[in-house]
Amino acid sequence: MRVAFLGMGIMGRRMAANLVKAGHEVAVWNRSPGKDVEGARTSANPADAARDTEVVWMCVADTAAVAQVLFGPEGVESVLKPGMIIVDSSTISPSATVKFAEGVRARGGDYVDGPVTGSKVAAESGQLTFMVGASQELIDKLQPLFSAMGKTVFRMGETGKGQAAKISMNLMIALMYEGFAEGLTLATKLGVKPEAFIGLIQNSMVRSGVTDYKAPFVLKHDFTPNFPLRLMHKDIHLMLDAAKEARVKLPALETVEEIYEVATEEGQGDMDYAATIALLEKWAGVEVRGTSAD
Ligand code: NAP
Repeated sequence: MRVAFLGMGIMGRRMAANLVKAGHEVAVWNRSPGKDVEGARTSANPADAARDTEVVWMCVADTAAVAQVLFGPEGVESVLKPGMIIVDSSTISPSATVKFAEGVRARGGDYVDGPVTGSKVAAESGQLTFMVGASQELIDKLQPLFSAMGKTVFRMGETGKGQAAKISMNLMIALMYEGFAEGLTLATKLGVKPEAFIGLIQNSMVRSGVTDYKAPFVLKHDFTPNFPLRLMHKDIHLMLDAAKEARVKLPALETVEEIYEVATEEGQGDMDYAATIALLEKWAGVEVRGTSAD
């Protein structure tokens, strides 16, 4: 298929590379230059990338970035043709998604919200999970592209429901990680060896994908960003805004948001979100680190 890919960040660049690898004809664009993908055509602006393509796939930072890329100067809107499908794998506001889709449909295009889970590693290996707001018919049309970048596609409902599912799921990840970090900090302060505690929880009902993934990094204090704290913080604001619109109370998330506020002030925005444990350690006066970790 002829595809434009907009946004060559941690995720987008790896996703676009997998489209090229699967044999699709890909044009890429990134706001700041120098992020090319081998085998893809580099474009000067979103309109240049999108011109004459069948599908425009976006993976940019936030709601404002999607608005800019679609409807800003030299945006996709200026070259939108009937039948063109716009897919958004950024994590953004569900209600803004519905508005963007209306704008695209008014010009004869189709719109699919298809945010992802799986982080940098799954983006690289083409093992992402997509949660999608669209008709089954549209999903079927896009299947060759989903298959090139991911392993599973979950249809969550119509437009906006992919984003609704994504932020609700990330809410759980943020809270589960803080639970893990607080439990580990308390256990360490009370004299339990971090590795012994992790060995215990990994053989109990507390074990989860979150603890499987994060425990080795925490033991090594390796906070290289897989999912940067600034993006999880952005998602927490999306969750709180959506909850306000829908009149839902999220008291635990409000507390976690305060932790992210402090972490951001302390300069951890570009580290992985797992770095919030460093604050807990500082407050507790203890260091959680594995003795046998390399
Ligand atoms: P990232 O590395 O920070 O990349 C962000 C991308 O958005 C960059 O290409 C950036 O361009 C572009 N951008 C930012 N503001 C823009 C604007 N106003 N106009 C146009 N482009 C703009 O982020 P990422 O990790 O790839 O994440 C991208 C999206 O996927 C986010 O919504 C994130 O929440 C979501 N996501 C990420 C992960 C993960 O593990 N990383 C997992 C699931 C979902 P520049 O290069 O010019 O800054």
